[in-house]
Amino acid sequence: MRAAPLRRARLARMFLAGRAERRTLDTMTVTPTDLQTVGHWIAGTPDSAAERLGDVHDPATGQVARRVALASAGDVDRAVRAAREAFPAWSSASLAKRTAVLFAYRELLAKRLDDVARLITAEHGKTLDDARGEVQRGLEVVEFACGIAQLMKGEGSEQISTRVDSTSYRQPLGVVAGITPFNFPAMVPMWMYPLALACGNSFILKPSEKDPSASLLMAEMLAEAGLPAGVFSVVQGDKVAVDALLTHPEVDAVSFVGSTPVAKYIYETATAHGKRAQALGGAKNHALVLPDANLDVAADAIASAAFGSAGQRCMAISAVVTVGEDTARELTAKVVERARALTVGPGADAASEMGPLVTVEARDRVTTYVARGEEEGATVALDGRGLVVGGHEAGFFVGPTVLDDVTTEMSVYRDEIFGPLLVMLRAGSFDEGLDLINANPYGNGAAIFTSDGGAAREFRSRVTAGMVGINVPIPVPMAYYSFGGWKDSLFGDLHVHGREGVLFYTRGKVVTERWPKKAHGVDYGFPTQS
Ligand code: NAD
Repeated sequence: MRAAPLRRARLARMFLAGRAERRTLDTMTVTPTDLQTVGHWIAGTPDSAAERLGDVHDPATGQVARRVALASAGDVDRAVRAAREAFPAWSSASLAKRTAVLFAYRELLAKRLDDVARLITAEHGKTLDDARGEVQRGLEVVEFACGIAQLMKGEGSEQISTRVDSTSYRQPLGVVAGITPFNFPAMVPMWMYPLALACGNSFILKPSEKDPSASLLMAEMLAEAGLPAGVFSVVQGDKVAVDALLTHPEVDAVSFVGSTPVAKYIYETATAHGKRAQALGGAKNHALVLPDANLDVAADAIASAAFGSAGQRCMAISAVVTVGEDTARELTAKVVERARALTVGPGADAASEMGPLVTVEARDRVTTYVARGEEEGATVALDGRGLVVGGHEAGFFVGPTVLDDVTTEMSVYRDEIFGPLLVMLRAGSFDEGLDLINANPYGNGAAIFTSDGGAAREFRSRVTAGMVGINVPIPVPMAYYSFGGWKDSLFGDLHVHGREGVLFYTRGKVVTERWPKKAHGVDYGFPTQS
């Protein structure tokens, strides 16, 4: 049964506030605690079924702040069935109706942008400003999706043969699943569902179990905007939920964003089960700094791109390649000076410029790699290990860290570390620097800092990365372009949002029609030149 949107929204609010928990814990096989449980959103209502629960931490304090339901294959099946049932009506709703829902959602999201941002900061740890920026970037995809009537237009040719016309259409796929990472709990889902829904699909979101709450607030607002029950669902969970989605016969397509090993697994498993798939993976984004660059501008840009969000951005710059010894020395000193000046603290504190890492494992991964880099011969130019934030001693903090004299054989260079750790490498020439970048297996983003237009043009043309910045450190495409990397940073053919997003969430149909002047005595065979 479908609850009215407002009632559903009220239920969701109760659920988020933990008030619905007592009712639902009766049916759980887990030990009740005082902590709020973040549940699913299935068939238009909050749903707290859970045989297993996971912990959600507040990274600033290191404490468990909430629990999250971890879906079983049965929970996933309920969401898929609801999505399948909702599909015929939603896919045949007029473009005007679908657009109206998106416009209403856009208004709600803009009004509650701070609420979403606060949930993100509480569970991810990033600063509130950063979280607001994330929601804003997601909102821009919603705005882009509001133009779906224009975006879904096909083409047509009259008179391809005598009295024969041809028209192409884009039609929705059916049930689409989105599996998303912890580092952008609102923006990455919004790379996917606004367009998927606008195109007429039903969508099931499986957010990261590390910061699940933003997804429920988005589900609540979509319902309030008038989206019919079942068209958008959220299943919380881990690999069990993911595998159930990847193998479910009623799921038609899978969009994934996360680390490279999981992306590869998702792409291979989804396609082996006959699904359309796009899987965006990890990154090691390089900046090439030439001797003619303005080194103050480059250092400002690199410090903010490396340490913003504690380096937990898929487009963070994590490796700098300098050309020439003087450039290397001067730039490293300038980056270290800026990084040292950053205020590290809880994301909710307005004075903080960098927050904690998402989990204790993520923090320990960074400190372990720094030690390994030192052993392998790198010079620690700035050491963020052992940073203690007063009043938040158990928080998952690591300060900005810079390793100099890094070479391509070192693990700190080869591996994606995903923290506030920047490695500095040296090259003897532009070509050597470019070759180094192109030899890296990742190809998400790459940037060049230079005042030489010819060198910039050469870099733009030859670098093997999907998103390129020229004197721009984080070249994230706007909603009306498509986002995606090359090489091990993307498995699949189509990038997310923009025109490619519309192509991914639809399939093409070409219609050829012949209408004779008179209905009788006409040959309906294959069109010819006559
Ligand atoms: P992750 O790969 O650990 O998890 C991503 C999603 O996959 C989560 O929903 C998680 O529950 C699920 N998952 C994890 N392990 C799984 C397994 N073995 N089988 C099935 N599902 C599994 O990534 P993360 O740590 O949440 O996010 C950080 C990673 O995401 C980084 O590598 C980062 O570069 C990448 N990322 C890439 C982009 C991009 O645009 N290319 C954008 C954001 C993040």
